[in-house]
Amino acid sequence: IVSAEAYRRRHEISVTGDNVPPPFTSFEATGFASEILREVQHAGFSAPTPIQAQSWPIAVKGLDIVAIAKTGSGKTLGYLIPGFIHLKQRHNNPKLGPTVLVLSPTRELATQIQDEAVKFGRSCRISCTCLYGGAPKGPQLKDIDRGVDVVVATPGRLNDILEMRRISLHQVSYLVLDEADRMLDMGFEPQIRKIVKEVPARRQTLMYTATWPKEVRIIAAELLINPVQVNIGNVNE
Ligand code: ADP
Ligand code: MG
Repeated sequence: IVSAEAYRRRHEISVTGDNVPPPFTSFEATGFASEILREVQHAGFSAPTPIQAQSWPIAVKGLDIVAIAKTGSGKTLGYLIPGFIHLKQRHNNPKLGPTVLVLSPTRELATQIQDEAVKFGRSCRISCTCLYGGAPKGPQLKDIDRGVDVVVATPGRLNDILEMRRISLHQVSYLVLDEADRMLDMGFEPQIRKIVKEVPARRQTLMYTATWPKEVRIIAAELLINPVQVNIGNVNE
């Protein structure tokens, strides 16, 4: 058992916000359902990464979060596992639209997130699909019609499908902006805004980014409500 302060110091975690819960310094400390813990054990992981340790308790409390950590730090499961827990508490009908929406800048990254969601969500029966450009819409629309809990999408393709009125985001209550800095660099801000307009204001919003420049701060201030901010290591601004 290590204190929250000692753990944060050792892993260069800094947090700002109100009532920030202490990090989950081990998988046992998470209290996650056994089917979820079985999957992380299966993957051979021995402990949460620092971003997971600190963002999980914040995310499962239902708070908005901005997490700033470099590539390769385990951000994907940082938001996916709390997303699965969120889903299980909702009992939404996936045929009426997804509950969890993850926006990602590229087809490649979106596909990686989808793979991780399928692998770690299987044991809790999560259904997921991935929407990206450069591929026919037909199979993607078919998945939406069949009903999915989680949609991972690039902003361009999701916006196209929204304009066709072939997806409803009215059930989304857990919204993730992954690699927010890259999405803005790639010029996706207008599409992100159009998408977020379709998501109810009563939601949890999570933003994951490798850097924290002004453009990202501005959109974070607009889309998130009183977020807890978690930084891992030194952030270049
Ligand atoms: P990021 O989004 O921060 O770039 P990823 O979520 O893609 O990082 O994770 C990077 C790699 O680390 C992936 O292969 C992932 O499966 C692995 N990983 C995630 N969590 C852990 C963990 N707790 N222990 C060990 N490896 C992990
Ligand atoms: Mg990532």
